[in-house]
Amino acid sequence: MTTTALITGANKGIGFATARLLGARGWTVLVGARDEGRGRDAENDLIARGTDARYVRLDVTDEQSVAEAARWIETEIGRLDVLVNNAGIAGGWAGKPSETSVAALRTVYETNVFGVVAVTNAMLPLLRRAPAGRIVNLSSELGSITETMNPKSPMFAIASLAYPSSKTALNMITAMYAKELSDTPIKVNAANPGYCATDLNRNSGFRSAQEGAEVAVHLATLPADGPTGTFWGYIWTADSGEGGGNGQIAW
Ligand code: NAP
Repeated sequence: MTTTALITGANKGIGFATARLLGARGWTVLVGARDEGRGRDAENDLIARGTDARYVRLDVTDEQSVAEAARWIETEIGRLDVLVNNAGIAGGWAGKPSETSVAALRTVYETNVFGVVAVTNAMLPLLRRAPAGRIVNLSSELGSITETMNPKSPMFAIASLAYPSSKTALNMITAMYAKELSDTPIKVNAANPGYCATDLNRNSGFRSAQEGAEVAVHLATLPADGPTGTFWGYIWTADSGEGGGNGQIAW
């Protein structure tokens, strides 16, 4: 049986690059996408590269879609080795706290926070059937309170609510799942891809989507003695500039 990974929001950006990298390892890649046209395009692109890719309709904010995706995977594959909770939106991430409406906050949380919980809970029964389940949550250094409050960090200049706080919540969610699952083979970690050029930031990032995806792949392929409940990925400091490496990020 091949290793199977579900990646949410796999039709573009870091999610698609993650699908490409895992597919190149010979894995079966389930291309989660909310739009069928975009999902099928990504599926076909991956198939043309020799990957066993299968489109799965999955809108992480739609509980029915999440339940149907889990049922489909159970019928077609019977288990899930890796879940990459990648789907995310920026919302008004640059808006000041005092100018952020609760509605705007709620919209971002629906995808970045509640969507992750909905998908994780739906997929956990399938992950428990895998010999070495892995869950990777795409977080951000903007979710690190330590970094955003560090005057020496490039993140210090940011003062906005929706996106950063959604990733802070995701970090705690990662830690809590890791604790609950600590007596199982399943490892749950948060990934910081770094500032990557994707549609999320109008392609302003200084890293490529592939470099960001390599962080997710590292956590998706951790060995049995690898860590769980950690925040790992690109370290961006004032000193490192755009030439930092990967490592442990402070929550
Ligand atoms: P992106 O290019 O905008 O891709 C986001 C993906 O999420 C798209 O496939 C999008 O689908 C999907 N998506 C959004 N809402 C969804 C929903 N309700 N259900 C299912 N899929 C949904 O962004 P990206 O930069 O690759 O971001 C991927 C992840 O990395 C996000 O969680 C982001 O917060 C995180 N991240 C990115 C950066 C960065 O610098 N780029 C840095 C740190 C963290 P559609 O095409 O249908 O919209």
